[in-house]
Amino acid sequence: MNERPCHPTGSRFDPAEFNRDNYERVSAGLNDALRRIENDHGLPAALEVLEAQQLDVGFIQDDLSQVQRYRLIHPSDPGHVFTAQFNPRRTLRHAGAGRSSPPKGSTAENGGCFLCRENVRWQQRGIEVGYDLRVGERDYIAWMNPFPLMPMHVTIARRDHEPQTWVRDSPGASSQTIRQILDDLLDLTSRLPGFVGFYNGEGAGATIPGHFHFQFFKRPEGQEFALERTASIAAAEVHRHLPLVIRKYPIKAICFSGRRADIVLQANRWIDQWTSHYESSRALSANMIAQRAPQDGDSFHLFFVPRNRLYSHAPGIAGLVGGLEVLGEMVFSTDEEKARLVSGQIDYHSVVRILASVEAPGVSEFLDTIQP
Ligand SMILES: [Zn+2]
Repeated sequence: MNERPCHPTGSRFDPAEFNRDNYERVSAGLNDALRRIENDHGLPAALEVLEAQQLDVGFIQDDLSQVQRYRLIHPSDPGHVFTAQFNPRRTLRHAGAGRSSPPKGSTAENGGCFLCRENVRWQQRGIEVGYDLRVGERDYIAWMNPFPLMPMHVTIARRDHEPQTWVRDSPGASSQTIRQILDDLLDLTSRLPGFVGFYNGEGAGATIPGHFHFQFFKRPEGQEFALERTASIAAAEVHRHLPLVIRKYPIKAICFSGRRADIVLQANRWIDQWTSHYESSRALSANMIAQRAPQDGDSFHLFFVPRNRLYSHAPGIAGLVGGLEVLGEMVFSTDEEKARLVSGQIDYHSVVRILASVEAPGVSEFLDTIQP
C-alpha cells in the first residue's frame, strides 16, 4: 500500500494563503519586538537585532568577510587618501538573491520591484522581513542588505512604490519633493547616531530607481572619508557661514552644517536656485549624504552633490557611482578590477578621474553665478 495521504474531503488548504498568513505573523511578531527595542534603546539597537535575525534566518548571506579593502594614498601628500573595497558579491545585491517569477496565487507588482513588500515575500521565500518605520508623515520599511557594502547596511524604502527621482514637471513641485526627501533623511539621521545616511538620485547610484529609498550604514570605527576630510580643511580656510562650497575635490559638493532648521533653510534655498537655473530639467539628480553630530541629535552635516542622471557611470569602474563613492570609498566587483587594484593600476589618480567624470556639467558655472 503506497497510497499517499490525501486531504480530508472538504478541506480547502491553500498553500499561498498559508504562506502569506505565516509571513504576516512572523513580520508582526518581529516588528513588535523591534518596536519595544527602539522605544527602550533607540533605532540603532532595533536595527542591530533585525540584522541578527536576518543573518540567523539566512537572508543576509555575506558578513563582509569576503571584502578586501585598500587605501589609495596621494603620492606626494599622504594626508589625502581614498579607500577602495573589492566586493565580488556586489553584483548579486538584488536580482541574484531571490526568485524571479511569482508562485501560483501571487503576482509580481510593479514589474517585480525588489522593494515592494508584496514582492519581497515571495522573491525572498518568506525570510526577508523588514521593520516598519514612520518617518515624518510617511511610511517606510527598513530592509537589511543581503550583500552589504558596509557594517549594518540597511535600505530604508518607502512603503509605497514611488519613484526615486525628485524632479517633477515644475520647479515648484521639484522643490517640494526635495524638501520632503531632506526632511525624511534628516529625521532618520537624527534617529541613527553613528550612521551615515544617503539619498542617491536616479542616475546617481540608485540601484532601484522605480522605488524611493535611502541607504544607511554604520560608520566603520575611526573612518574619516576623503570628502569629509576635504570639507574640514575647507572649513578651516574660510571664515564664512554656511554653506561651504567644496571645490578642491574631484567632484564639487556643498556642505551644510549646523542645527536642523538652519540646514533645511539653507539647503532648500540653494537647491531652489539650482533647480530653477536648469528649469527643473529631467536630467537633474543628486547625492545627499547626512550624519548627525555626535552627542547632539539636532546638529547635522549634510553634503549635497549635484548630479546629472546622464552621467551615472565612469570609465574605470564597472559599478554605478553613488554616494559612497562620492564620499571617497570606491566599490569594485569584477575580477579585472581586482587585478588592477592588486597591481596598483587603480591608484589615487584613478579615483580622481572617476569622480571628476560624473560631475554634472555646468556645476562650476552655476556655482560662479551664486558665489563668484
Ligand atoms: Zn516598488
